[in-house]
Amino acid sequence: METRNLIGGTWIDAEDGSTISVHNPATDDELAVVPEHGAAETRQAIDAAWNAQADWAALPAANRSVYLSRLGASMRRDTERLATLMTMEQGKPLAEARGEIAYAISFLEWAAEEGKRVYGDIVPASSADKRILALRQPVGIAAIITPWNFPAAMITRKLGPALACGCTTVIKPAEATPLSAIAIGELACEVGIPAGVVNIVTGDAAAIGETLLDDDRVRKLSFTGSTNVGRLLMKQASKNLLRLSLELGGHAPFIVFDDANLDLVVDAAVACKFRNAGQTCICANRFYVQAGVYDEFNARFAAVISELSVGNGLQEGVHIGPLISDAAVSKVEEHVEDATSLGANVLAGAKRVRIDGLADRFYAPTLLAGMTPDMKLCREETFGPVAPVARFETEAEVIKLANASEYGLAAYFFTRDGARLWRVAEALEYGIIGANDGAPSTAQAPFGGVKHSGFGREGGKYVMDEYTELKYVSWRI
Ligand code: ADP
Repeated sequence: METRNLIGGTWIDAEDGSTISVHNPATDDELAVVPEHGAAETRQAIDAAWNAQADWAALPAANRSVYLSRLGASMRRDTERLATLMTMEQGKPLAEARGEIAYAISFLEWAAEEGKRVYGDIVPASSADKRILALRQPVGIAAIITPWNFPAAMITRKLGPALACGCTTVIKPAEATPLSAIAIGELACEVGIPAGVVNIVTGDAAAIGETLLDDDRVRKLSFTGSTNVGRLLMKQASKNLLRLSLELGGHAPFIVFDDANLDLVVDAAVACKFRNAGQTCICANRFYVQAGVYDEFNARFAAVISELSVGNGLQEGVHIGPLISDAAVSKVEEHVEDATSLGANVLAGAKRVRIDGLADRFYAPTLLAGMTPDMKLCREETFGPVAPVARFETEAEVIKLANASEYGLAAYFFTRDGARLWRVAEALEYGIIGANDGAPSTAQAPFGGVKHSGFGREGGKYVMDEYTELKYVSWRI
């Protein structure tokens, strides 16, 4: 496969020939080297996007839609290849990687349809000789900066609507997982998306980011990543007053009331916590379980967790792959040690899993009872397979605990009481609520956070606002 970067329809190396190495986190094998691009190549990518922008915006939405559908179809055809590549560079189990490719395609398909429905308005005027029009037009070049935990879906979730709305793009994937991005770029070429509409630069994150945000031809930044980098990019984006979508960190509470259906809760808890080895921004971070079912929940959750198999994601039947880096494993260890030193009880895991012939980057799925607010894992994102649980007594108490976070991305709660469903859904200060649901993400819904989890919504009809400007035409007839 191609391992160079796509700029203006051609594949290029770094000007000075420098490269970054991409490793398999499960084995430490080098998978490929990709260009280490900096300011010069980023400028070339912006030039290419700029040259393509007017024609792409002028193309009827129905034609843009055809390209997106074709890109989705070619990804579907190549699912096995793309999923294997993703597991090799990111580590998640192959079944999850296949799921992510399907999820990634769903954003392209949704955007292909929704792009045809980016309507304006005709608004009643106050005088007989005037007409008021509100038109939606593409914002222009969109910069797309994505993280390593969902190497394909985080790109298409932005790329789909950007292209559908008539924006050209410069994509900067994460250093650890550029190969999925480049593979999507190859397919964009194969289906004939015009040169310059999709550009990819890998390399020096700070130099690429600064160059993108310093250039006034770039009009939009959509970023998924950490709150700290989001804050920095927001500062840099103030120079050109960019339109921003920032999907940042999360710290999701997962609340189980006494009246919940525990079969459903345990399944949802496993999926919500241990998907991608807990390296997901909407993963459950803090479990709060009401006193009446606390012991039963812990016993059932621990039993299921201890059955999860840890290993190389390419092996069928593996549930938990490696963590992305040595630093990620150290952070998990630090959080678990901190929690146990402050009184948490280990009900499962709490140790590395060493597997012959594989890298030392595997951590056992872990359940800790007796979480208290002073523990690091109760405040900071652990980003690993660790489930800490605390007991609570009343609804009012748990709402307070759940909302006591600087983050506001996703929250989950489980109850069979209809009135409580409404009350709690409304009281939780989070952008995404899973009510009896541990897996709320889907292409047609508005995904995004509040507070330090950022702003802007991806998915559904709502994302179209992020890539369009509303232009008002006052027309005297
Ligand atoms: P994570 O903790 O998930 O790695 P980061 O926020 O560090 O999150 O990274 C998300 C994306 O932001 C990656 O593509 C990374 O390369 C990029 N990034 C990191 N620092 C900068 C920066 N200073 N400017 C632009 N992009 C950056």
